[in-house]
Amino acid sequence: MEKTKMIYLDNAATTRCKPEVVEAMLPYFTEQYGNASAVYEFASNMKEPIRKARETIAESLGAKPEEIYFTSCGTEADNWALKAAAEAYQDKGNHIITTKIEHHAILHTGEYLEKRGFEVTYLDVDEFGRVDLDVLKAAIRPTTILISVMFANNEIGTIEPVKEIGAIAKERGILFHTDAVQAYGHVPIQVDEMNIDMLSASGHKINAPKGVGFLYIRKGVKIGSFIHGGAQERRRRAGTENIPYIVGLAKAAGMHQDSMGKDMEEVTALRDYLIDRVLTEIPYVRLNGHRTKRLPNNANFCFQFIEGESLLIMLDMAGICGASGSACTSGSLDPSHVLLAIGLPHEIAHGSLRLTLSDETTKEDIDYVVDQLKEIVARLRDMSPLYEDFMREKKER
Ligand SMILES: *Cc1c(COP(=O)(O)O)cnc(C)c1O
Repeated sequence: MEKTKMIYLDNAATTRCKPEVVEAMLPYFTEQYGNASAVYEFASNMKEPIRKARETIAESLGAKPEEIYFTSCGTEADNWALKAAAEAYQDKGNHIITTKIEHHAILHTGEYLEKRGFEVTYLDVDEFGRVDLDVLKAAIRPTTILISVMFANNEIGTIEPVKEIGAIAKERGILFHTDAVQAYGHVPIQVDEMNIDMLSASGHKINAPKGVGFLYIRKGVKIGSFIHGGAQERRRRAGTENIPYIVGLAKAAGMHQDSMGKDMEEVTALRDYLIDRVLTEIPYVRLNGHRTKRLPNNANFCFQFIEGESLLIMLDMAGICGASGSACTSGSLDPSHVLLAIGLPHEIAHGSLRLTLSDETTKEDIDYVVDQLKEIVARLRDMSPLYEDFMREKKER
């Protein structure tokens, strides 16, 4: 059967490059291809687009340009922040605090550091996926050198109390890193006001290409380089600058900055419309994450008596792209670590569906998706022995 429709609701996994972003990048492949480190004018001219890109990104965070370091992706920025901070501050202590709901770029880096003598506390979160500030305070030890809490969760969209966490870290003289890959460009972030010392972001989550990101490092934070080699990025991140991608990242960052207010309002309204329709029109469903403290574009549900994988396949046949669990773990049968951390039992967590909107999503798209979803959920439940048992027991009661 030929698909006539494609509704892309997996923008937390990756986004479409904006045509304006691609256009801004193009000259740097075939015309202005010099290596910014060379001396002749053709190449040294290349310093200017890098400088401008750094400035645009710094401005979006209330940071200084020299505090922005371009990386190959969000994962690299996360690895750099954790590993280099652990190494640089090991004389002060060996304890790191993070959460159970981080992206694997943080969780697996934490495990790596544990194998090398560091102690890592993975904080529990509440039923909405929020870090409890008292739980955080209680976890702090005299040896704590770093707190890393994500700005917003990639699965359930919950926004963490970052400003409050930053204040606690600052008061105790502990470094604070935040993985803002899902939040950057989508919600306002100010590094000074929020006492953020390090922040990771990624291009492909904000309509720039895959394979580019940045790490913000506050001036005075003494972490070393992660990629050793040439003198690029103030000697802190070697490797010839990926100029087209850096330009694309900054173009996308600027576009998001300009349209953030409008996007937040419009996308949030569509998200709420989607959530309201699903919760009122489909029985035995729950919303995961916080009702209001969540990313404008994120909706995450659990449908009882259903496997998320079957749901995704049937949605795909209807031309709808969604996710269940996170893309990095799909293929494994374990339910999402995030859904388990907010206290869901395995059988409920298995029936999860994440739909993440973009500024291109329309109300017609949402209506089509909810109509399809209603039908698909009903069909899958008709085939489900669990649902049959449940309904029989319900009648007997
Ligand atoms: C996507 C994502 C990453 C990884 O970024 P890449 O650029 O794909 O390496 C890290 N953290 C979060 C929260 C993400 O959503």
